[in-house]
Amino acid sequence: MAAAWVRLCAIVLIGVSSAGALAKDKTAIVVGGGLAGLTAAYELQSKGWQVTLLEAKAGMGGRSGLATSEWIGNNKTQPVLNQYLEQFKVSTLPAPEFVRTPGYLIDGEYFSAADLATKQPATADALKRYEKTLDDLARSIEDPLNPAANSTLFALDQMNVSTWLDKLQLPATARQLINQQIRTRYDEPSRLSLLYFAQQGRVYRNVSDRDLRAARLPGGSPVLAQAFVKQLKTIKTSSPVTAIVQDKDGVTVKVGAVGYQADYLVMAVPLRALAKIQMTPGLDNQHLAALKGTNYGWRDQLMLKFKNPVWESRARMSGEIFSNTGLGMLWIEPALKGGANVVINLSGDNARLLQAFGDKQMVDQVLIRLHAFYPQARGAFTGYEVRRYSTDAGMGGAYLAFGPGQISKYWRLWERPVQRIAFAGEHTDALYPGTLEGALRSGQRAASQVQDLAAGKSFDPVKSVAATAAAGTAAAVAAKDKGGFFSNLFGGASDKAEKAPAKPEPVKVEEAKQDKPGFFSRLFGGADKPEAKAAPIAKAEAVVPAPAPAAPAPAPAVVAKEEPAKAAPAKAAPAKPAAHKPAAKQAQKPAAKPEPVKKATAKAEPAKKAVVNSQAKAD
Ligand SMILES: Cc1cc2nc3c(=O)[nH]c(=O)nc-3n(C[C@H](O)[C@H](O)[C@H](O)COP(=O)(O)OP(=O)(O)OC[C@H]3O[C@@H](n4cnc5c(N)ncnc54)[C@H](O)[C@@H]3O)c2cc1C
Repeated sequence: MAAAWVRLCAIVLIGVSSAGALAKDKTAIVVGGGLAGLTAAYELQSKGWQVTLLEAKAGMGGRSGLATSEWIGNNKTQPVLNQYLEQFKVSTLPAPEFVRTPGYLIDGEYFSAADLATKQPATADALKRYEKTLDDLARSIEDPLNPAANSTLFALDQMNVSTWLDKLQLPATARQLINQQIRTRYDEPSRLSLLYFAQQGRVYRNVSDRDLRAARLPGGSPVLAQAFVKQLKTIKTSSPVTAIVQDKDGVTVKVGAVGYQADYLVMAVPLRALAKIQMTPGLDNQHLAALKGTNYGWRDQLMLKFKNPVWESRARMSGEIFSNTGLGMLWIEPALKGGANVVINLSGDNARLLQAFGDKQMVDQVLIRLHAFYPQARGAFTGYEVRRYSTDAGMGGAYLAFGPGQISKYWRLWERPVQRIAFAGEHTDALYPGTLEGALRSGQRAASQVQDLAAGKSFDPVKSVAATAAAGTAAAVAAKDKGGFFSNLFGGASDKAEKAPAKPEPVKVEEAKQDKPGFFSRLFGGADKPEAKAAPIAKAEAVVPAPAPAAPAPAPAVVAKEEPAKAAPAKAAPAKPAAHKPAAKQAQKPAAKPEPVKKATAKAEPAKKAVVNSQAKAD
């Protein structure tokens, strides 16, 4: 009888303990609520993980643009994006034909690609010559995942794109348009590694603009972000992470005085934001250098609102329109309730110079230029919204754009986990950085790495390209190159290929503030345009062409979960450096002694109504 009783107790105990084991989910924290973090959180949760997503801002979605209707690629060009849109039943509309190839605004006149060929053949031919030379360059890269495969290609990383363009000796208008395209898609040509530019050319080689602009996503990428948010159980907004401690048991994440603990972590914030988070143990020197040194493109967006269209209706200016003057890259945005909106993208050094200006001053400068071409602009202007990615501390730039020498040092660095942390974000995707596709892909990769880590897999430390590439500098390779690769690359003249990599000129903000004669004329055209053709009005404050603009609208995609965020199970022990693996070199200042982890407050956040993205009207 007694033996039966003991056996029964044992069975009950075993049952309890195995139920306990079953109930103990694997836990993960995801830092950053952009599309990369949302993807990682969603994928881990789908595999049974208990995930807590921490986002610094009040709203989710990260670097989603101002567009009320984004252009997206088809299945061929953006398969992961299309897979999620389908999965979440987010509907898209086919793109009208006229937006599927880029247009040009030359001194205020709109040209489609076909117009350009007939009306400005010299410019059209020069653009073709540029595209052909770029294609040759891209073709020289066999594997875009290993762009610096040999010393010749490695040498390209030491050069900048501007030097390469100089060699093409393009006519002025063509060069202005090409500069505009490059600074919009990446960054200022003088700040861009030629190898990175070639590698991206290789990735998009034989991909037509038509496939990249195959459909429109009404509401833009915030709609996709909201679709992810709906799936996730635990999201904490307004939770900027300040410190992370890894130890042998897991990770502890600090948001002010509150601590969260989990087994693993996905870090899905841009590099500038990551640099502000205290890591214990500290990152090694290579990672620290990458945090500080990796170039990000600059791109700020302004949406100018008008009572009615002020541009020529014939132009149907939509899609991607590259201007050779002060308007950067622009498109006409389908207006939501009557009126007409134009989104202006200021990029590269034009955007950098304007960091000293307030939003209204920046808008004024653009309006002045628009007004010069479209005289009704001033009277029809009703307000604006501005999104400045470059000066936003949580972003610190528009997207990754490797500068000269940086592929050699940091190639695929963030694709490898560091102990219990996997990294995600557009900047961690080797093929599609700076895109939604890249962000989504990186989230999937990080989620699968966390599962691999949990299964006991270890990842080799990253080897830098510089250490593995065949020894050879630009100078050495170019010197050996007699009528070879460099000669072809530079149209037969390889003489300047051995020049040391040109460093981009630092942008002097003070210069902008002082508004010296000629400053605004250089602005928006950079050195692209002769000063004689400068915009007619030079002083920002003196000319305020429009009625007082409306205050910028709040960020879209504001979403907060209604259910209380569950705190990751709080563990009592203060965090110690990981004992099971050799700690990374303590190059970072060690964190102040971490406070004991408090049980994270499971305070219910007030449910915020998600901003409804009005359906964009088809043009
Ligand atoms: C102007 C512009 C136009 C673009 N146009 C296109 C386009 O047409 N097509 C395309 O495919 N892609 C485009 N992109 C790129 C695309 O938007 C990005 O690649 C993508 O949104 C990046 O997502 P992410 O998750 O990597 O980063 P993010 O969206 O930046 O997400 C990172 C998140 O981390 C948060 N965060 C930062 N620090 C902390 C912290 N300490 N604690 C907690 N959270 C923190 C941030 O608030 C942010 O929400 C564009 C980008 C810009 C800027």
